[in-house]
Amino acid sequence: MTTRRLVRRLAFQLRAAFSLWWGVAAAVAFGALITRGFFEDLRRGGADAVRITAATALAALLAARVVGRLRPSVDSDAEPLSRLMEAGRDLELGLLVVVATHMLLQFAGGLTSPVYPVFYAMVTFLVAYNRAWVGVTLVGISLALEVLIVHQADQLGASLGLLASHAAFAAFFGTVSLVLLRVEVSKLRREHTHRMNAEIHSMRQEAQDFRLISATLSSGGGRSREEQEQHLYTGAVEAIHQAIFFTLALLKDTLEVQSCVLLWLDESGRYLSIREMVTECDDHLVQKAPFPALTGVLGGVLKNRTALSTLNPGGRSIPYYAGGVDVGAFLGVPVVESGHLRGILCLDREGAESFGATERELLEEAARQIMHTVQAERMFCAVERSKYEQERFFKASEMLNSALGLDQVYEMAFTAARQIADFEYGAITLYDDASGRHTVAAVTGEALSTFAGLSYADNAGLVAMAIKNRHYLPAGGELRDRGQMIFTKKLALGGVASLVVYPLISGDRALGAFVLADPKRGLFNADRREMLGVIANQVAVSVRNGQMYAQMEDMATTDGLTGLVNHRTFQDRFGEMIARAERSDKPVSLLLTDIDHFKSVNDTYGHPVGDAVLRAVSKVMQEQARTVDVVARYGGEEFALVLEDTDREGALILAERIREEVGTLKHPSDQGPFSCNLSLGVTCYPADGKNQQLLIERADQALYYAKEHGRNQSVCFGDLG
Ligand code: GH3
Ligand code: MG
Ligand code: MG
Repeated sequence: MTTRRLVRRLAFQLRAAFSLWWGVAAAVAFGALITRGFFEDLRRGGADAVRITAATALAALLAARVVGRLRPSVDSDAEPLSRLMEAGRDLELGLLVVVATHMLLQFAGGLTSPVYPVFYAMVTFLVAYNRAWVGVTLVGISLALEVLIVHQADQLGASLGLLASHAAFAAFFGTVSLVLLRVEVSKLRREHTHRMNAEIHSMRQEAQDFRLISATLSSGGGRSREEQEQHLYTGAVEAIHQAIFFTLALLKDTLEVQSCVLLWLDESGRYLSIREMVTECDDHLVQKAPFPALTGVLGGVLKNRTALSTLNPGGRSIPYYAGGVDVGAFLGVPVVESGHLRGILCLDREGAESFGATERELLEEAARQIMHTVQAERMFCAVERSKYEQERFFKASEMLNSALGLDQVYEMAFTAARQIADFEYGAITLYDDASGRHTVAAVTGEALSTFAGLSYADNAGLVAMAIKNRHYLPAGGELRDRGQMIFTKKLALGGVASLVVYPLISGDRALGAFVLADPKRGLFNADRREMLGVIANQVAVSVRNGQMYAQMEDMATTDGLTGLVNHRTFQDRFGEMIARAERSDKPVSLLLTDIDHFKSVNDTYGHPVGDAVLRAVSKVMQEQARTVDVVARYGGEEFALVLEDTDREGALILAERIREEVGTLKHPSDQGPFSCNLSLGVTCYPADGKNQQLLIERADQALYYAKEHGRNQSVCFGDLG
């Protein structure tokens, strides 16, 4: 808020408070006069100019305040009063009412005067008119004023009983009016809600009658969706009404008829009701309720589907009148929409002057015009609706495209599908061609939570069948056969009415299935199935991308032959471990290993046997290391191990154990089994160096030393001296 606004607002509140102050001061002054019996003398005939002026002044002040309250504020720029200020204004007016009442009572004979019940009327008014606490305060002040009056007159002792009874009655009237008021307010509120709901219902019914909405629409999609939908058809219904009213009014004025009416058939086609009417007749003569359609002249129009013009039809009145209306001539034309009867457009006049061909043509044209309006609005609704659906659809697509990792893809798949239908359960299964097994990769919805990660063999369930048929199942998106298996007999999901299982197809591969289910019927209607089908295709692409992404990530960090982490990852992880060790002040050890005379293994037994040796050696290392350690293929037949929280002694023990284990391995070959040895170099952080590069160089030096001094041994850099 700007300073100017703040100042203006403050000034306004001050002005309001100041004007209040006047009223309160006047009330207090008059209260003081009343306690002194000032107005008693007026009654006793001692009226003088001062007293009469005072009484008139109070009456005038009260009248001015009441008028001020009743007059709507003309100052549109005025700030709204704060709540406290409003209560202050109520209190001020209430105080003036209180003193005026007491002045009147004093004038009329005091507490025992026959007009005393005015006091109770005042109590009722104060309580009913004001907020509860203001009312109660004012009644309290009024009773206190009474006590003061009696006290001033030295009659307190004698009047105690009277005062008590006044107080009791005041409390009674106050409570009764308060309760009655509350009951009345809540009753009004209920009636209002009821009326609103009825209006919404009838508007919806009308929208259905004009076929602007279908009965199945807006099941699901959430509250805001329903509100939007309501907004849409309310606008459409209003537009139609306006157009029809205009047409009817024009017809009535140009043809100078008594009434021009559009009658609409109900769903069954057996009842008609007035949809719009422009008439000279009184409202009470118009038939409000639906009436049978197939009798009399109206029945004639409907049965023959042609215009019908008659004179004085049987002397009886037409059924759209409730009676008592003379009709001399009638003309009705059917309202037809693409071959379907929708209603009748009618004209009638009092005089027995029949309608001619011109009037008939005009009316037929009007009927066509009305149908055009309805169709245009329906089209508008459909376009708006599909715009809404498409927006959600594109949003869903976008979400899926933004997902990278598989977990993110699964989550986005459900979120995207929910943009289209608000289903309760969802699952994504993956199918492995080689093993013929399905795995539940992701789920949503409480009832499915235990299914996550479970895997099962191929079967005749809907998931397996959808993948085999490469088509969504079951037809129509409804699970008609409750016994039908979705996953397996064991993984049964109860209480499903709506169901779709889409195969996830990428290229020529079926990756798995996208399962959506809900206990409500009719959730997956044709429109939604179509969109969900497209979403499922996108899910498939995203799953495939996610799988490739994971694969690539794997390839980038691991060594293909041994499954150990590769050189680059070793460097990264070693760096992280040194940083961690630096912070926690703990040692980290590095083992660099090299297989002895490995070239001759390749030369003697062949490269594939050499590969098998590399795998066997890497397995030993993995088995010997802990999960916190890093075991890497450093390059060729060299491996590196980073041992967290391990000093030189610990590292040497592990190095020796690995060396011995590797030495005992028997590698099969076509020339019989053979074994290999390993040389190792060991460095330890921080003793042998404080940075990564130095530690690696020194481990390499130790390894070189081991090679130079007979191989098949572990050498610590620290022991080299
Ligand atoms: P030294 O005891 O001095 O280590 O002798 P060495 O024969 O092992 O010598 P060096 O370490 O230099 O030999 C490395 C050999 O490892 C060369 C190469 O043929 C072989 N090699 C490297 N990578 C692979 C691989 O992936 N598979 C196979 N089979 N052999 C590999
Ligand atoms: Mg080597
Ligand atoms: Mg070697």
